[in-house]
Order: sequence, then C-alpha cells, then structure tokens
Amino acid sequence: MKIIAMIPARYGASRFPGKLMQDLGGKPVIVRTYEATKETNLFDEVYVVTDSKIIFNEIELSGGKAIMSKKQHDCGSDRIAEAVEDMDIDIVVNVQGDEPFTSKEGLEQVLSVYKGADADKIDLASLMTEIHDWKEISDPNCVKVIVDKENFALYFSRSPIPYPRDKNTALQYYKHKGIYAFRKKALMDFYNLPMRTLEAAEKIECIRYLEYGKNIKMAISNTQGIEIDTPEDLVRANKVLKEENDNSPAPNNKYRNFPMVPKVVFGQGCFNQLSTIIEPNRKNNAPFIFIVDDVFKENKLFSDRINIRFNDKLMFVSTKEEPKTSQIDEIVKDIKTEFNLKPSGIIGIGGGSVLDIAKAVSIMLTNKGSAADYQGWDLVKNKAIYHVGIPTISGTGAEVSRTTVLSGPKIKLGINSDFTPFDQVVLDPELTQGVPTNQWFFTGMDCFIHCVESLNGTFLNAFSQSYGEKAYDLCKEIFLDDEISEVESRAKLMMASWHGGMSIAYSQVGIAHALSYGMSYVLGTKHGIGNCIVFNHLEEYYPEGVALFRKMIAKHQIEIPTGICENLTEDQIETMIDVALGLVPLWENALGDDWGSIMTREKLRAMYLKM
Ligand code: NAD
Ligand code: ZN
Repeated sequence: MKIIAMIPARYGASRFPGKLMQDLGGKPVIVRTYEATKETNLFDEVYVVTDSKIIFNEIELSGGKAIMSKKQHDCGSDRIAEAVEDMDIDIVVNVQGDEPFTSKEGLEQVLSVYKGADADKIDLASLMTEIHDWKEISDPNCVKVIVDKENFALYFSRSPIPYPRDKNTALQYYKHKGIYAFRKKALMDFYNLPMRTLEAAEKIECIRYLEYGKNIKMAISNTQGIEIDTPEDLVRANKVLKEENDNSPAPNNKYRNFPMVPKVVFGQGCFNQLSTIIEPNRKNNAPFIFIVDDVFKENKLFSDRINIRFNDKLMFVSTKEEPKTSQIDEIVKDIKTEFNLKPSGIIGIGGGSVLDIAKAVSIMLTNKGSAADYQGWDLVKNKAIYHVGIPTISGTGAEVSRTTVLSGPKIKLGINSDFTPFDQVVLDPELTQGVPTNQWFFTGMDCFIHCVESLNGTFLNAFSQSYGEKAYDLCKEIFLDDEISEVESRAKLMMASWHGGMSIAYSQVGIAHALSYGMSYVLGTKHGIGNCIVFNHLEEYYPEGVALFRKMIAKHQIEIPTGICENLTEDQIETMIDVALGLVPLWENALGDDWGSIMTREKLRAMYLKM
C-alpha cells in the first residue's frame, strides 16, 4: 500500500497573513511542519501543495518536495485532490500546514484504522479528541463529532451534539481534528461532487462525505499540538521549541558565524579612488552598473566624479518609497535585457534605500526567480556578483549589515544571507553634505535607536556591546555637543552608523523597530521617521534613551509628526498589531522570553493609538 502525506499550504490566512512563512526557531513554520511530518517515517513521500511561489521555493530550497496548485481552491482537500489526481497512490493523509509540532502518534492513529478487520469499509479516516469543558463544547469554532459503536462518524456539527436533555447523564463529547487519511477514490469523488445543504449550513467540509454516503472511521487521539492561528500562538510555539532546544546547542542562534565587509576605505575625498578600487574586478566586456539615488541626478559636480567607462551604466533610482521586491525584479530584468554578460559589479550610491537595492540586485543577478522568494533567513543559494556600497547619508548601518530590507507582496522582511554584505565599502563623509536637516536627524536617529535597543536587549554580549557603546557615545556627541564642527560631525556619524550596524549584527533591534515595521507596513511610513514617531512614546521601556532623544529633538528643532494613527480603521490597527507581534526575535531581545505576557494586543493598541 502506498501512503503519502500532503500538506496544503495557502499563503494568505485571514487572521494572520503570511503565517506559514513566519520564523519559528530560525525556520519558517511550513518548513518545520514539513520536517516533522517527514521525521515520522510513516510515509512513502511527503509533499507541500501550495498556491504560493514563496512557499514552493522555500520547501524546495530546504530539500523538500513541493507542488504548485494549478487552480484556485476553496479548501485544502480540493488542493490535495488536484495534486494527487495523476499519482499512483492508495492513501493520502492531509497534514495541517500550521501544525509545526505534528505528532507521530496522531498520524499513526489515523492510519492504524486501515489495519483493522473493517478496513475495506472505510473511505476515509479522521481523528477526534475528548473534550470536557462546556465552554469548548458550546463554542461554534470547535467542531463536534458523534460516532456509532464501531467509531464510524454519524455527524459533525458546530452545535453541541448530542444535546444533553438530561443534564445528569455522563456524556463524552468529542472534538473533530482536521487530519484525514483518504483513500484516493474517496478524495477524488469529493473533488467532483457538488456541495449539499448540510455542509453549506455548517461550513464543515467532511459533512459532504456523509451526505454522499461515505464511511468515515474516527480514531481517538488525545495528544495536543499547537496550531499557529495568531501571533500569540507563534510566541507559544517558539517557546516550546526553545525549551526543547535548550538541551541541545543551537549554533546558529547562540554563536553566529557572520561575514563582515572585507574591504573598506575611509576619509574625506576617498570617493575619488573609486575607479582604481573597482577596476581590478572588471571582467572583459562586462559593465559596472552604478545605481545612484536620483537626488543626485541634477548634481553635475557629483555625477562628473563618477567615472563611467566603456559600456558601464549609470542608473538613477527614486527613494520616494522604500525598496520593493518588484522594483528589484524590474531592475534585474532591465540589466539582463540590455547586457548579454553578467555585470562586473553593482555600485550602490545613496542612503539605506539605495544600498539595499544594490545588495538585492547583485544577489538577484545570480539567483533565479523573484526577490520575494528570498525574503527571510539564508534562502539565497548562489554567491552574489561583486557589489560596492557608498553611503551618502549616515545612520542605517546598511553599509555593514547582512540584510537588505524589502517590502514584498505579502511581507516587509530582509534578504538575510552570507551573500548580502558588500564586498567593498567606500566611506567618504563629504558625500553626506547637502542632506536636509530633518532627514539627517531621522536617519541619524536610526543609528541611535539601534544602539539603545541593542544595549538594553537581552541578547547583548560583549561583542555587540563594544560596538553599541561606541556608536551611542558618538551619537551623543554629534547630536548634543555644542562644540563639534560640521566636518567632524559628518565623519563621526558615518562611523557611528557603521558601529551601530555591527552592534545589531550580534544582537537584535527591539520595540521601536517592531512598532515602526507595523506602521510602515500599513501606512508606508519611512523607516527613519517611523522609528522617531514610535520611539518618542517608549519612555517606559527605554527611559534614558528617550530622555536623550527628546533633548536632541529640542536642540535641533525637529518636529515629530503626531496623530498618525488617529483615523485608522479597525482592520488597519489589527494588521499593525499583527505585523509588530510577528517579529518574535525583536520582542525576545527587548523583553525576554516572557514578552508575550508583557506586550499584549491591548497594550500595543493603546500605544499605537497615542501616536
Ligand atoms: P533613504 O535612503 O531613503 O534616503 C532618505 C532621503 O535622503 C532620500 O530622499 C534621499 O534622496 C536623500 N539623500 C540621501 N543622500 C543624500 C545627500 N547626500 N544629499 C541630499 N539628500 C540625500 O534613507 P535612509 O534613512 O538612509 O534609509 C532608509 C532605508 O534603509 C529603509 O528602506 C530601511 O528599511 C533601510 N534600512 C536598512 C538596513 C539594513 O541593514 N539593510 C538597516 C536600517 C534601515
Ligand atoms: Zn533601523
């Protein structure tokens, strides 16, 4: 008998968008589910079947098997049916994608019914679990099932069944668990048969089998898994995993072996060295592509200093909006269309936005698909082409970091990989001349906030502390000292940005970034200003940092926007909260393992509404 497992995985989930790609102990939820299923050794094959290229690539990259659905489907069973239609199999078990701790016991039980004497009569098997609490019994979200004496299902309902007319009779109630082991024929019949009234009324898929006279054998399983339905579930799941892992070392989190920028040149005017620096990396007829912030488009003096040679190309990009995966895909397509050869290198000249674009383009020139496929940790397969970063505004630390932050179709998340950091950085403070004061302040504060969050975090170690403290002190000098000259201030901010970036490389950001990501996802607020709006309200968590921050605002007469969240719809607020709470590592760093009980949805809502 050939038995396979299918994990239907839909990207969008109404309550928790993108939940299957959320981080669970360093891997996406869907990869955890896949691996747990595989490890049971109960199946000849395990597949994920999905509507999403992102999930598809994720599974393939982690060495698993994935199938793309051809059509839109209303339910998981239809998705599975389409996938197995042409497969030669006997039994297919559906495993819920959002159950990363899928236990062997439950799957073993649902399969065991096919070993009984009545196996021939069974069209499909499913699981039920005992429930006792009347609140759960009467909860319409909990589907109850009643069975005959051989444990064949009689009916499924959201109402309490049976109805306990005589309250004194001891009754056992069962809740239905959505794990099935189908005979292939039963599944294909389901796919081809129209929905009838009972199913439509209760909105319970498996009633269709009963309405068409199929036999569903129920097995009892009392193991409890954790379903990831909300950000809070994700927190619980991360905790469970951590407890499991605490007995075995987890090298990737505790000890990070990360690359640093191998070559860097610093100093007023060093930008003039650029040609000499990059020339040895020129390959035959392959061009260098200069990606430059379009704020320099009209600046003749500046563009004349960029030495365009042979077939090199100068591309101006707008930074009105934060970088998007679609924007990266377009730039890569344009480069590939124009040149037959892979470029000799990508040179990014601008702020955090342009530096991130340059990193992402260099990665996507050697990796297939869309940039959105690589948002996450360590998904990039091939080494990027040579890339150089030249900041023209300081603060983000993007020049040293291992990530490139992008907004994708579904999430805002970095491409975090060993191939992301620049091969060469050019730090010329002169280039930051002409940054408008407000912008200088907002981007500079990104650095200050990185330090506050890293230095006050639970992940802090001597490595990140040494960088963080230096950057923190530099920021105090730059933004509060009356004596500092402009030239000195520019050079120091450039180094503060560098050190701030290094500090978070071995730790994490914290509450301000979590909230600011939520805001930016919903309202498109830019990173620097979003951080400032949020940070101004965080005195409870970072009292010393916020007090200094307010002094800096006053000294430089910066206006921080207010009333940003005043007219939000309920949906927008909920999404903001979901996005913020989804950033588990940030909260863990800020508040420790117990952060879930400290930072509740209500608390977050109240904070956002004040902004
Ligand atoms: P930015 O790159 O968006 O630039 C801000 C503004 O300053 C733009 O209007 C730009 O045209 C202008 N500007 C830049 N240099 C100038 C100059 N010399 N003269 C005049 N104007 C100039 O802003 P940013 O704050 O540097 O970067 C924000 C971005 O960085 C966000 O997208 C954020 O997600 C990302 N970020 C990335 C990392 C990372 O590690 N990769 C870290 C933090 C932030
Ligand atoms: Zn930041």
